[in-house]
Amino acid sequence: MTATAEAEDVLKRHLVWDAHSCLPLHPDMDVGVLERHRAQGVDFVSVNVGMDMNPLEQVMAVLAGFRAQVRRHADRFVLAGSVADVERARAGGRLAVAFDLEGGVPLLGRTEMVALFYDLGVRQIHLAYNRNNPLGGGCYDDDVPLTPLGRRMVAAINAAGMLMDCSHTGHRTSLDVMAASTAPVFFSHANPRALCDDGRNVTDAQIDACVATGGVVCVNGVGRFLGDLKAGTPAIVRHVDHLVQRVGPERVGLGIDYCYPAGGLDENPKGLVKGYWWPKAHGYANGLDVKLAEPEQLPGIVAGLLKLGYAEGDLARILGGNMRDLAAKVWR
Ligand SMILES: [Zn+2]
Repeated sequence: MTATAEAEDVLKRHLVWDAHSCLPLHPDMDVGVLERHRAQGVDFVSVNVGMDMNPLEQVMAVLAGFRAQVRRHADRFVLAGSVADVERARAGGRLAVAFDLEGGVPLLGRTEMVALFYDLGVRQIHLAYNRNNPLGGGCYDDDVPLTPLGRRMVAAINAAGMLMDCSHTGHRTSLDVMAASTAPVFFSHANPRALCDDGRNVTDAQIDACVATGGVVCVNGVGRFLGDLKAGTPAIVRHVDHLVQRVGPERVGLGIDYCYPAGGLDENPKGLVKGYWWPKAHGYANGLDVKLAEPEQLPGIVAGLLKLGYAEGDLARILGGNMRDLAAKVWR
């Protein structure tokens, strides 16, 4: 059997969980493109429905549009609210889809908004996207602590059974969140800073704090966070292996962060200042204008880990078992 065929076999035999990818934030975006995820053996994907820069009108329209379309394509996709839904989707060869928010601004400063978003299918959230907001710090801003409102939001996120995510969050705030949370905290898409020194990546202190909560660090496929602008498969394998060597195979997952092309749809909110959200001082030229890993790289990632001698049981954990167990613990 070729290495690729063996890797494809592993992807078929085990639950595969992509902790974060993006559809363009437009309600008319065809969610049918997620077929590319399904074709690679992915069983669950968390799709972004809004960042701190997106006004609530946009977030709600996108949620409505995506939910309606996932339902319309019930032959291929399932709106997943529970791990049982994910398992059912997998058993029927369908792709389970849930949603995430990248930043807490859409919560409007009201803790009861968390449960409302949960009811709409949002299963994970981080408090700040790159910049500071009333809840706490973003990773490309002054390093501020979690605010009192942010602390109440963490409690509301815990109470709702939503996964507390610290990707895009500032260093100090993320450590405060992990100390305050009563449930495991995870990074849905972040890489070890030891391998690539970018403010979006996580320090050993953040990784250790996450693991101490019982959380998982999911490796991100964005080129500049991999230290390989081409987002090559060997770089992803390197980041996975670094984390596994540091914290063990039961604490590592995947959040590919593939952003499907917008195909002519305009997803940018009016007046968006890209230089604010993706600052020049941190090396950005024109927003997040970088190469991203694609779902089709999954067999190569598995083949690379097999070549390093990974046991199938450990691969099963990294590909999806760890995130399934985490969701089973946290989701209501
Ligand atoms: Zn992100």
